Amino acid sequence: MRYLSTKGEHATDLVGAVMQGLAPSLDPASLAADTIPDIATELLAPFFSGCALADALAPICSDALNFPIPLRRLEGRDGAIAVLELFHGPTAAFKDVGARFLAAVMQRALPLLDPADARPLTILVATSGDTGGAVAAAFHERPGFQVGVLFPKGQVSPRQRHQLTCWGGNIRAFEVDGSFDQCQAMVKGAFADPEMRQRHRLGAANSINIGRLLPQLVYHAAASLWHWRERGEPANFIVPTGNLGNAMACVWARAIGMPIGRIILATNANRTIPEFLATGDWQPRPSVQTLASAMDVGNPSNMERLRHLFPDFADLRHAVEAYPVEDAEIRQQIGQDYARYGDIWCPHTATGLRAYEQLPAASRRDESWIVAATAHPAKFDNIVEEIIGARVPVPPALAELLKLPTYAEAVDAELGALRSAMVDW
Ligand SMILES: *Cc1c(COP(=O)(O)O)cnc(C)c1O
Repeated sequence: MRYLSTKGEHATDLVGAVMQGLAPSLDPASLAADTIPDIATELLAPFFSGCALADALAPICSDALNFPIPLRRLEGRDGAIAVLELFHGPTAAFKDVGARFLAAVMQRALPLLDPADARPLTILVATSGDTGGAVAAAFHERPGFQVGVLFPKGQVSPRQRHQLTCWGGNIRAFEVDGSFDQCQAMVKGAFADPEMRQRHRLGAANSINIGRLLPQLVYHAAASLWHWRERGEPANFIVPTGNLGNAMACVWARAIGMPIGRIILATNANRTIPEFLATGDWQPRPSVQTLASAMDVGNPSNMERLRHLFPDFADLRHAVEAYPVEDAEIRQQIGQDYARYGDIWCPHTATGLRAYEQLPAASRRDESWIVAATAHPAKFDNIVEEIIGARVPVPPALAELLKLPTYAEAVDAELGALRSAMVDW
């Protein structure tokens, strides 16, 4: 398969028919697979066809997608609603799916790159919290790779910080005295910097990396298939949204023929997307801090992909809906669902549940809904415990990580500081 850049005409041999709306439309009834790795292998095959890793796809999928992703029905509510629990991976957020897949692909692709270059591939990644931990976990102790994680000081939750700084070995954590946007600018700067490019063999793992986005379509597809096999009808999806990567993958899953109905993007107070859908006016802006910090994005970069898939605004507006959720509503949702049902949500997942609650009663009653549960609440214990007045049980994998010592290197928010910090790498 050939891939098109949304930035221009050039096609490469590795993602685009889907983005062009040209992907082969699959008939769900023709799919035999039922487990996540098997569904991944079947669905992603066209994207790997003709590339050097085509035969490695099955082992890549079983390596990368080696943790459960259950679809859990919520009982006792008005209508048919389920949550897709994406948080059972090593760092307890959905980012593990993309990061593990990317690492499994890169490990097999590395020997195919310039064999004369014996240097490790240095992956630089800027994170607002969850991405960095997932990428660090995925590449930790993989021979041939080293990872530099840049995160904004004071702007990640204490447990997220732990997951960014507990690895050692081939992982380094740079605690940047600045914002996430500045971290991102530093990573971009490093790729453009001749001195750094000469010294290091640099690789990227940011959220627009297709190697991270592609596997995300698998769990939306799997959930829609499971639902459809059980009930014979498509499910609607609600996806907590920041940079639009997770929701974009859901749109792709529908575009290749999966039984997915409406797609609602639940955002926090960063309203760039809902306002765009309401007005047609694309107004990116600096992000504001909210309780759902992993969704604090004012300029969602994957919007370019959505607009490329739906060049006509009327079509785009038909394809997705959006609902913004304020911090007060996030709190209310977390408190209320704990009190009523004993369910504990992370602040991101709570935006999705809130978007569900505001639906007209008839939609909740007559349509089936799946909400993507993007992180485990124990990652955000500092927010959630105060709201529910109880402790959040810590999953075993997270408990193990929390026992490890941590180390971060303080870095000023400018490229020169990163360049000097990386001199000895
Ligand atoms: C990254 C993240 C999001 C937002 O996902 P996007 O792909 O950026 O839209 C939502 N929730 C959690 C927990 C995240 O880590």
